[in-house]
Amino acid sequence: MSIFTKRPARVLIVGSGASGIAAAYALGKCPDRFDVHVWEKSALPGGVASSVRIEGPGNLFINDGVQGGTRSYRNVLNLMTEFGFVGSPVYLKISFGKGPTAWSNYKKTQLTDTHKDEIKKFDRTLRIINKFECVFVFVPISKVMQWFGHSDEFCNQMVLPLVALFFATGNQTPNVSSAVIARVFLDDKLRMFDYDPERLLSQMPEMFIFPNLCEMYQTIVKKIACTFHGERTVEFVNREQGKVFVTDDKGCQEEFDEIIFSCTAETVLAVLRNPTFMERKVLGNIEYYNDVTITHEDEEYMAKHYELNTNVDQYFIRSDPDDPTKLEMSFNLSNYQPQLKGCGRNIYQTIFLNDAAKSAWTINEINTNKIRLEKWWRKFSHSWRHFAFTVPFMRYIQGTKHTWYCGTYTLIGTHEVAVISGLTAAYRLGAKYPFPQDDLAKMQFEDHLLLCHGKTARFGCNKDTVVSICMAPLMRIFLVTALCLQFFVRCFRKD
Ligand SMILES: Cc1cc2nc3c(=O)[nH]c(=O)nc-3n(C[C@H](O)[C@H](O)[C@H](O)COP(=O)(O)OP(=O)(O)OC[C@H]3O[C@@H](n4cnc5c(N)ncnc54)[C@H](O)[C@@H]3O)c2cc1C
Repeated sequence: MSIFTKRPARVLIVGSGASGIAAAYALGKCPDRFDVHVWEKSALPGGVASSVRIEGPGNLFINDGVQGGTRSYRNVLNLMTEFGFVGSPVYLKISFGKGPTAWSNYKKTQLTDTHKDEIKKFDRTLRIINKFECVFVFVPISKVMQWFGHSDEFCNQMVLPLVALFFATGNQTPNVSSAVIARVFLDDKLRMFDYDPERLLSQMPEMFIFPNLCEMYQTIVKKIACTFHGERTVEFVNREQGKVFVTDDKGCQEEFDEIIFSCTAETVLAVLRNPTFMERKVLGNIEYYNDVTITHEDEEYMAKHYELNTNVDQYFIRSDPDDPTKLEMSFNLSNYQPQLKGCGRNIYQTIFLNDAAKSAWTINEINTNKIRLEKWWRKFSHSWRHFAFTVPFMRYIQGTKHTWYCGTYTLIGTHEVAVISGLTAAYRLGAKYPFPQDDLAKMQFEDHLLLCHGKTARFGCNKDTVVSICMAPLMRIFLVTALCLQFFVRCFRKD
């Protein structure tokens, strides 16, 4: 390289989940400009998108974390296509509740008749929430149900289980922001279900199920221009004199021009020396929980807690009879993971959320001889506080001292958001958006760029730039208001 040629910027990506890999993929397309390094705590890439072999006949593997997505996951699907992977289609069948409180999306039940007036009313409630989204983003669904005069029965038997299905929020479900829920039904381009004013849910939307995720992410990492370091945990990050100095768990230090964090926000705050005030506020506001998934073949346990149609249902949601705001979820992986079809085994997975509330878990009822796998996860809460005090202010920390942030916590916990957030971080560093031919993919990318970076993808005089210029001072006023509000919430919170 001649002395007049600028050397490529050394970029470190911390973590190789979907968001980190997406960032590495986009940056790796310009090897003359970026020298990309990925340091990953585990041996393999993929993060919570992982696959494992399970004991028992058939030498079977399962995807034990991330399972699938909707057809609107355009960035994920484009990325998969580029590396020769396809998802398997599946038509979602869900079993909610048990006995008199049982209902589903594929057949009429007594419960939907009982609540038919409330179902109609909830349609109107959702439309109001959607109209005044910027206010309702701060209001948890449990409060909205009270304010709009919905009964506890309808809320506990139908609405909360439905929200738990969308966001896998378990015991935290009552705190989910109502505006986010309204979007699931009313967003023109991204909605998963059409609202049924008679039955609430009556569609079996086409979803896709991921192929072997471990294989997929290993293939991607091998084919993109990046240096992958497995089992290399970032321990400290120092940002000085316009450079980023990163030390790993063996005490080895390297210097980078830019760093992209694609691990959890709590890890960022643990490794970052001297985080700024805004970094502490925005990232420190995110609440994390410990969840555990038990993969098992205990049919008796399933029949006890769910309405079990062995060869039909894929998802099961259970409300605790003593406290219906506490929810558990199970899956019958054999009814949708294609490699398990016809294996002659029903492989179930039950997820227990938030170990602070584990006294209500039914985990001890699963026959230990039938347990095939136990795995712990760390998940962030989709509470209204997340949407009030983190999402709108991500833009103020992006790029601070050559530091960029991606991962699901920048918005909501979906694989699509993970991938988009990696692409937006790479774009801010100067990489091109890789799927401009796909309008829906591009729209979602541009929305994330505007919301979480405060930037537009288009330049010149157009609607996006006008919106972003008008929004800038409003966002600052909102920031100051939110910081004051957060201060008062902290002072008056009971816990
Ligand atoms: C159990 C589970 C199931 C899910 N199922 C679905 C689903 O079916 N569909 C869907 O759309 N979404 C699902 N999600 C949401 C999921 O979070 C996203 O789909 C996405 O895969 C998350 O990607 P990420 O890059 O944000 O984070 P992660 O996948 O968590 O990646 C973070 C990476 O950072 C690494 N790391 C952490 N600390 C360090 C360190 N100090 N140094 C180096 N590396 C570090 C970690 O090892 C990890 O690989 C699920 C989440 C969980 C937990």
